[in-house]
Amino acid sequence: IVAREWHKENTIVDIKGVPLGGNTVQVIAGPCSVETQQQMDDSAKYVKEAGCRLMRGGAFKPRTSPYSFQGKGVEGLEMFRKAADAKGLPIVTELMDVRMLDTFMEWDVDVIQIGTRNMQNFDLLKEVGRVKKPVILKRGMSATISEWLMAAEYIAAAGNHNIIFCERGIRTFETYYRNVLDVTAIPVLKKETHLPVIVDPSHAGGKAWMVPALSRAAVAAGADGLLIEMHPTPCEAWCDADQALTPGELKTLMAELGGIAKIL
Ligand code: PEP
Ligand code: MN
Repeated sequence: IVAREWHKENTIVDIKGVPLGGNTVQVIAGPCSVETQQQMDDSAKYVKEAGCRLMRGGAFKPRTSPYSFQGKGVEGLEMFRKAADAKGLPIVTELMDVRMLDTFMEWDVDVIQIGTRNMQNFDLLKEVGRVKKPVILKRGMSATISEWLMAAEYIAAAGNHNIIFCERGIRTFETYYRNVLDVTAIPVLKKETHLPVIVDPSHAGGKAWMVPALSRAAVAAGADGLLIEMHPTPCEAWCDADQALTPGELKTLMAELGGIAKIL
């Protein structure tokens, strides 16, 4: 179902009237995690001011250590919804557990994000396949392209064709940066599938200063969108502080990207 072979034209995924795919680039921005109502209200304001039409934020966080902040949970969804609604921004947030899917539907989460660690959680994929909400499927950190395509096929086979691929960097021998952004995956995915392909430069580089260059590279290579971490005060972020852009840096990046592609 996801193969270009069966569907020649690019599929545009509609997110509450915001098109993802086609001839324009969408930038999804927001903090790594939902922290407080104030932080989310400020973030929504800056995301909107920068010209982005979609907002990200994690309420359920897949942390390496069980002792690290795990996210605000349902309370976080509520804060996120309130902040984003005030600015008319559809929300993107990660689902880690099938048991939370009904809650995500109740809070009308606009885009369900499946994180790198769950790319092959097949039962989770089948469940998000049963709803019609757009799904961002992040690439597993050690997944091949064909494994990634087959993971998407699980969602599609269950009935949900609103899938967006997200390259977020892969594991290699290199330790200078968090992951290696696989730019090559962008033209390959665009060839193999009709579905939109976006890039997360934040979790790829892991440092804020790398984000603009990786973003420009992704857009130049044909990405349909970007998923970027931005925090009102990065040094105070509860999670992924090193890689969050400031509101000013996001604004500057949006202007730079406008010189490469049509940012809608
Ligand atoms: C995220 O985007 O919040 C995240 C945890 O990313 P990844 O699954 O790519 O590590
Ligand atoms: Mn993060």
